[in-house]
Amino acid sequence: MSILLLDEVRKEYPGGVVALDRVCLEVAEGELAAIVGPSGSGKSTMLHLAGTLDRPTSGRVIVAGHDLSTLPDRKVAALRARTIGFVFQQFHLASGVTAVDNVADGLLYLGVPARRRRQLAREALERVGLGHRLDHRPHELSGGERQRVAIARAVVASPPLLLADEPTGNLDSASGATVLDLLKELNAAGTTVLVITHDRDLAAQLPRRVAMRDGRVTDDHRTPAAEPAHGGSHA
Ligand code: ADP
Repeated sequence: MSILLLDEVRKEYPGGVVALDRVCLEVAEGELAAIVGPSGSGKSTMLHLAGTLDRPTSGRVIVAGHDLSTLPDRKVAALRARTIGFVFQQFHLASGVTAVDNVADGLLYLGVPARRRRQLAREALERVGLGHRLDHRPHELSGGERQRVAIARAVVASPPLLLADEPTGNLDSASGATVLDLLKELNAAGTTVLVITHDRDLAAQLPRRVAMRDGRVTDDHRTPAAEPAHGGSHA
């Protein structure tokens, strides 16, 4: 089943900028895909629309089987809270607030009681390898750790879809590699992951790469699943 379907999506901003032009994209449950392309090609706009944070000018966005054009904003917000986690380049953590409370905030809109929110937040932080940083505040954490807190917040409600906009853009390469490994682990555990990146090496490690230019998808490439080694192949 597809978790995300963009069907002939067009997005025009006020002033006449066409950010997306007849974009079609289907993402199946369980995929791990990179979105690549030059600055201004429409990557963030596409992620915003996929994340239900904005609506297309025309065309359809279907998330987890729900056609957004048929839903009022209130229902879209509920669908988003249940279905989608977001990670951004700038982390967007609340300063002066502990890691646990930052992550617990990811459950605010789901009506989870406070005590349970904190328990789930601790578990999510343990999952991202930060069980020893629960009460640290963002300024007491490295960039890589902050991004792992942000990822814990994004997945604390176990959304089936994780959208990440340049998650390694502010990190040194070692921290970036850790964050990428974490995204791969989450994907292996069942989360569908869509990640915008400028980093060619990162994109090359993902099984699917969607290339954009001038508001259009120009290439969509899947790495064939690894075949079992045959006799005579080089090790
Ligand atoms: P990318 O993420 O690939 O850099 P964007 O989706 O941010 O591309 O932008 C695509 C195009 O839409 C660009 O020309 C950009 O200037 C324009 N754009 C993006 N957001 C807005 C906005 N809120 N208002 C007007 N134009 C925008």
